[in-house]
Amino acid sequence: MDKIRNEQLLEQIEPVKEMIQTCIQCGTCTASCPNNEFMDITPRHMWRLLLTDHAEALFASKSFTMCSSCYYCTLRCPRGLELTAAMSLLKQAASRLKLKKFQRSSLFYDAFLDSVQKHGRVKEMEFMTHYFVSLKNPVIPFGYASLGLKLLSKGKIRPEFGFGGKGKLTGLFKKVAELEGMK
Ligand code: SF4
Ligand code: SF4
Repeated sequence: MDKIRNEQLLEQIEPVKEMIQTCIQCGTCTASCPNNEFMDITPRHMWRLLLTDHAEALFASKSFTMCSSCYYCTLRCPRGLELTAAMSLLKQAASRLKLKKFQRSSLFYDAFLDSVQKHGRVKEMEFMTHYFVSLKNPVIPFGYASLGLKLLSKGKIRPEFGFGGKGKLTGLFKKVAELEGMK
């Protein structure tokens, strides 16, 4: 596991811990999560680890990166906790802590948001090219070739190569960064 400096980790997870203080461990979030079969630590268990100061165990797993922000858990939590936002903060924490095991999901996330910021939606070809270039490993893209062809043949991705974009959502992204104290 990557070495996490304790004080850095505590600083990053403190807001998440605050958000889930009133969790009663009912397990509704786990039962509601469509992705929990891909997680080795369930959502309920994640909150338990945080509340009992075992965040390192949480970051030893990639479970929170499996969250697809569907909001089911948030809608169904009997305590009204902002669980999707908490998952998002965990992803951001992994990125800020520059943990090697989360590097690929952080780069994927950055490339995705970059495309949304430029075009107001994802342009799949540009997004994946940006992601593959950022990986700096020419071998990895070959592992996605058959999936890419399958998606293309089914019309799930559009073969658009018009890179660039006009920065349609740049103003909005700047405002959010300001509100979140990132700039
Ligand atoms: S649904 Fe809410 S209260 Fe229940 S375990 Fe999940 S976070 Fe805790
Ligand atoms: S928001 Fe994330 S953690 Fe919550 S139910 Fe959806 S995928 Fe699961």
